[in-house]
Amino acid sequence: MHEATLAENVLSIAVEAARQNHADKIFRVGLRLGDMAGVEVEALRMAFDVLKKFSPAADAELVIERVPVTAECNGCGKIFRLERYNFFCPECDGVLVLRGGRELQVDFVDCE
Ligand SMILES: [Zn+2]
Repeated sequence: MHEATLAENVLSIAVEAARQNHADKIFRVGLRLGDMAGVEVEALRMAFDVLKKFSPAADAELVIERVPVTAECNGCGKIFRLERYNFFCPECDGVLVLRGGRELQVDFVDCE
């Protein structure tokens, strides 16, 4: 994952959302980021802070919500938080199927 490209995409989604709402200023941009999305949060923040300077998001804060890695058992249907890549259900020995943790999406854009 290239953090600068991601920051650019996040920024253009935010600017587009502001435009649609006839807003001049963006205050906060929320991002949902799975723990398995393979993104360096610090690198992403740095890229965002550089790129935002000449956009309506110049003062915007990037709010990142980390999403834990979860898996669902194909035997009993329970959902577990995956701690260390154990792919078998602790309750019934069924196989766990990855459900969450790869999210990479803009959650909200606060603008005015
Ligand atoms: Zn199970």
